[in-house]
Amino acid sequence: MGLLLAPIALPAPLAAGEAPLIAVDVGHTLAAPGAISARGRTEFEFNRDLAGRVVAALERLGLRAELINADGLIESLQARPEQAAGAVFLISIHHDSVGEQHLTPWEWQGIPLDFSDLWAGHSLFVSRRNPDPAGSLMCASAIGARLQRAGFVPTDKNARRREYADAQHATHYYDNLVVLYRAQQPAVLFEAGVLKHRDEELLLRDAERQQRMAEEIATGVAACVTAGGLAAAGRTD
Ligand SMILES: [Zn+2]
Repeated sequence: MGLLLAPIALPAPLAAGEAPLIAVDVGHTLAAPGAISARGRTEFEFNRDLAGRVVAALERLGLRAELINADGLIESLQARPEQAAGAVFLISIHHDSVGEQHLTPWEWQGIPLDFSDLWAGHSLFVSRRNPDPAGSLMCASAIGARLQRAGFVPTDKNARRREYADAQHATHYYDNLVVLYRAQQPAVLFEAGVLKHRDEELLLRDAERQQRMAEEIATGVAACVTAGGLAAAGRTD
């Protein structure tokens, strides 16, 4: 079997209709919008902006992509993986916060808010309860590697509570996340950065930076789901 010894092939051009479908989930909802940034913007809004850019970037790479919960009205956590049933990979987009005990009150534009400048940076999560933990980790590491090569700096903030699956790429195990363990395909939860950090919040609001981050995520996903990644691992499920 010469194939086993062949170098990793570049993805062949994909014919229309046969490109792998990627599900991109917008974390949180309008009714429960997640964390509030240092300047008062909801996590849901940040998630929606970045997830939309990831979908567009995936499509530019020749993959198919579907946005889950774009309207913020999804009825339950398990509805997210259910809607992703046809996808070969699921990524859920989030932004990170910090515990209450680390927050300092401040006022911004006359509004009482709080912040923490202790941690900044992205991190990733996979579940060992997912039907394909190895595939999930391969994709998380691919995404993390792309981001770091492009200059994005991860955080070790979540290592305090979540064991590393891949420390070099700030990827942790979080086994009981519904969106990850109810998924029928490899799945990753991505935390783009810490909304409570006053400088990082401004970076996370920056459209040009969001775009660069989305493109690196999409490139990592593409590497993982096409030749050399999940496909080469001989996966049939
Ligand atoms: Zn979140």
